[in-house]
Amino acid sequence: MQEINCSNCNTTINDAYCAHCGQKFVPKRVNIFTIFSDYVSQILSLEKSGFATFIKLITHPKKVIENYLNGYRNFYQSPGRLLFYFITVAGLHVLLVDKKLFGTAINVGSEFLSPQIILTALIIPFLSLVAYLAFIKQNNHKNFAEHLIAQTYLFSVFGMLFIILDDIISLFTLEIDYFSIEFLMPAILFWTALTFSKKRTWYFILLNFLLLLLVLVIFILLLILLGKFTDGGITLQEY
Ligand SMILES: [Zn+2]
Repeated sequence: MQEINCSNCNTTINDAYCAHCGQKFVPKRVNIFTIFSDYVSQILSLEKSGFATFIKLITHPKKVIENYLNGYRNFYQSPGRLLFYFITVAGLHVLLVDKKLFGTAINVGSEFLSPQIILTALIIPFLSLVAYLAFIKQNNHKNFAEHLIAQTYLFSVFGMLFIILDDIISLFTLEIDYFSIEFLMPAILFWTALTFSKKRTWYFILLNFLLLLLVLVIFILLLILLGKFTDGGITLQEY
């Protein structure tokens, strides 16, 4: 049999995929059906799509996040990719639907920094710190960077979910304010408890959720106090 080398990295190919760079090799000449089968397989390759990762993060957050933390790549979409989707969805929402994001108006004194980027830059490290401190005494303790990965995933997914549901409900002119920041953060923290609770019993997960909420409340009280000391220099305005 003739030896075939990968056109990309020149490694010898023994399988459908190059063992070195992952390029797929189909040893057939293209015909008119190739384009149809490519199109269909793009739709059906649900495991790798952004939508599949989005759904999987809601139904099995531990599986997707630990998979990434354990070093596996390119099966589920990366946290960076999901964050990119969120920035896009949030950007479209701010541009086309409403200047407010999660019921919060963020005044930015700059043309270059859009509110969804400011919010993301603040809230992901904030929630990561909350999660880091809440889990610091537990034996599956993760470092700050690992919590940053988890929060990037969860914030992106629930951020998109809240924006999309809010916009759909607004179409029917129903005034429901459940898709605001004070519901977004607990939702993310509940999924954080689902992800990082070592014991998989419901009361242990619930206890971790309450612990996360407690740390969150303490942080918010500290921020409000800081706002008072700085004479309102640091505030989150609600409308
Ligand atoms: Zn290769």
